[in-house]
Amino acid sequence: MFVAKTVKEVRNFLKNEAKFGKKVSFVPTMGALHEGHLALVKKAKEIGEIPVVSIFVNKTQFNDLKDFEKYPRTLDEDLSKLEPLNPSLVFAPEDLEIFPRQSSFKITPQNLVNCLCGATRPGHFDGVGLIVTKLFNIVKPDVAIFGEKDFQQLAVIKKLVGDLNFDVEIIAHPTLREASGLAMSSRNQRLSEAAKIKASHLFRVLCEIKKNPHFLSQKKEELLALGFEKIDYLEIRGEEDLELNPNSLRRIFVAAYLEGVRLIDNLPFDNQLPN
Ligand code: AMP
Repeated sequence: MFVAKTVKEVRNFLKNEAKFGKKVSFVPTMGALHEGHLALVKKAKEIGEIPVVSIFVNKTQFNDLKDFEKYPRTLDEDLSKLEPLNPSLVFAPEDLEIFPRQSSFKITPQNLVNCLCGATRPGHFDGVGLIVTKLFNIVKPDVAIFGEKDFQQLAVIKKLVGDLNFDVEIIAHPTLREASGLAMSSRNQRLSEAAKIKASHLFRVLCEIKKNPHFLSQKKEELLALGFEKIDYLEIRGEEDLELNPNSLRRIFVAAYLEGVRLIDNLPFDNQLPN
């Protein structure tokens, strides 16, 4: 597992390794790694001969500076967690390596971002588009793996890759959950133990809406009564177009705040309940 800090180191490493047409598989992360991230890395190992992981807290996708500052940074622990999986390369650059100056170019999605997290976090997906574009240009992966936990992000990245002809296959990975049902997230570290228990109600509510969608507005009230401070959305939308009246399969999406931490989750609507 080679740990690179600079773009040059990544390029030199990959030039040597990828010479013989080996497949580069890529998992971009913002660190504070948990089992959800590690499942993506395992998948990358299965499908590529050169699995690459990046760890970079991307300032441009945070619309709230305080959220960026509070985001957990645990590089040493992250590297220890990755070591047993032994990806070929971990790219963990400093801010200035990726953004030595403000970018003169923007990646602004024209679709899929007027709802859900796009509506409540203005500019967030511009930041995601920019960092993913830069990382794809640095790593030049054949395959990249993204989690369904960030379902809108996955949809935006698929569109980015299709519309701008990136030569990379995007693979979706299902959400890993705690035994309580709570979707694993780096942000969970910021919750008290009591709040972690409370946070698992998000998954319960998604499962109940899946059984009976008429409960939707009632469930919003229920979350607020349980102590969630704010609900950005609790909605059923299409998996492909993210529209309220979709042509495709539907999914239930939620974003809610607990102890000031914004938590998101989603569940497919048009198939069976998970066990
Ligand atoms: P992040 O570090 O939050 O930017 O996430 C990096 C990648 O891991 C993204 O593709 C996420 O969707 C994915 N991810 C985060 N949490 C989970 C989870 N609980 N299960 C599966 N994938 C996840």
